Amino acid sequence: MKILVINAGSSSVKFTLFDMDKDVWLAKGMLERIRTAGAVLKYSNHRGEKFEKSIVANSYEAAISAACLALCDADHGVIANLEEIKGIGHRVVHGGAEISGAMQITPAIKQTILSCYELAPLHNPPNYEGIEACEYLFRDIPMVAVFDTAFHQTMPAAAYTYAIPAAVAAQYKIRRYGFHGTSHHYVALAGAKVLGKEVTDVKLITAHLGNGCSITAINKGQVADTSMGVTPLEGLVMGTRCGDLDPAVVLFLCRAGYSPDDVDKLLNKSSGLLGLAGTGSGDMRDIITAADGGNAGAKLALDVFVHRLQKYVGAYATVLNGFDALIFTGGIGENSARIRALVCEKLYYLGVEMDVARNRANEVVISRNATGPKVLAVPTNEELMIARETARLLM
Ligand code: AMP
Repeated sequence: MKILVINAGSSSVKFTLFDMDKDVWLAKGMLERIRTAGAVLKYSNHRGEKFEKSIVANSYEAAISAACLALCDADHGVIANLEEIKGIGHRVVHGGAEISGAMQITPAIKQTILSCYELAPLHNPPNYEGIEACEYLFRDIPMVAVFDTAFHQTMPAAAYTYAIPAAVAAQYKIRRYGFHGTSHHYVALAGAKVLGKEVTDVKLITAHLGNGCSITAINKGQVADTSMGVTPLEGLVMGTRCGDLDPAVVLFLCRAGYSPDDVDKLLNKSSGLLGLAGTGSGDMRDIITAADGGNAGAKLALDVFVHRLQKYVGAYATVLNGFDALIFTGGIGENSARIRALVCEKLYYLGVEMDVARNRANEVVISRNATGPKVLAVPTNEELMIARETARLLM
C-alpha cells in the first residue's frame, strides 16, 4: 500500500511517499517558497537520485502537482501513476480538545481544523490548504489527518488544567494541549520495542529537542503530562522561544509599551537560546561552539537550557512515580552527546547512569546500568508515524 504524507506549512510543503507493505520511504521532497517567483522543488528518491528545480507554484495545488509529476517521472520517479497512491496522510498541528487520534478527513473533521485556527494561527490554515489542494488534485483518494495534539489528549485534567477561573478557560479554550505528539508517540513505541516491552507496560519520559523542544511523561502509553501548553511556547528553552515564564512579564512589557504582537514576536522569535546568547544564532551547534570559545552569553544559554530540562525530568519522574527510560530525540536529542551527558550527569540520584562511550557513539541505548532507568537516543520519524496511522485507518 503506497501512502503519501503531506506536511503543509505557510510557505513550504514537505512530502514523502511510503511503501507501507515494506515500511520504507520511496521518495521525498520539499516545495519551498510557494507563491513567490523563487518557488523550488527539492526531490530525492530511495535510489539516491536527487534534483532541485524551479517551479511555477502560485498555489498549493500547483506546488503539490509539481511533486506528483516528480513522483511519476520516467527517470527519477518511483510510481507509474498516481492511482498507485491509496491514501494521503496530512500533518495537522491543532485538533483542539475534541480530537484524540488520527481521523479520516470528512467535512466535519475539516470543520474542526477550521475551528482551531485561533489556537494555531500559523499552522492550521496552511495544513487546511494542503488538504483542500489534495482533495482537488486526487479526488477519490481517501485522506487522514494526524494531529500533533491528539496523543496528548490522554492527559488527565489535573495536568491539562490551568489554575484560572473555569468559565474563562472554557470560553477561550484555554488548557494545556501539548505539541510534537506524533514524535513523542513514535519514539515511545520505538523505545518500548528497544526495551523489549509493550508501550502499555512501561513508564517513559520522552524529550523532543529540536528547534522547538518539548518533554512528555508517558504512563503505560497514556500521556501523564507534557511541557507545551495552549501554544508551543510553554515549557523548555528552545532555539528562539522562551519556554516557561512568569505570565506577569507579559503584563509588564505591555504596560511598558509593547503591543501584543511585539510581545508575541519577542517571546517566540527573539528569545530562547538566540536571545540568551546574543550571538545571532539559536542553533545549538553554534551555541556550543560559542560557549566553548568563552562567550559568556552562550555559556549561560547552555546552562539555562540544561537546567530547565533537568528540572522537567525530575518533575516527570515524580509525576510517573519512577520511570523505565528517558528517551532523547529531535536534532539536539539525536545528535548531541554533550547535551545528553550534561542533562544525565545530574540525574544520578534517580538511578540514571550514562555510558560515556555509547553516548559519544550515538548508540540507541546510552545508559550502562542493568537496573534503574535506561537512557535512549531514538531518531524520530513523524512522517512514518503519519503514514502508519493513515494506513491503519484506511485498511
Ligand atoms: P530539528 O528542529 O529537530 O531539526 O533540530 C534542530 C536543532 O538540532 C538545531 O538547534 C541544531 O543545532 C541541533 N543539532 C543538530 N545536530 C546537532 C549536533 N550534532 N549537536 C548539537 N546540536 C545539534
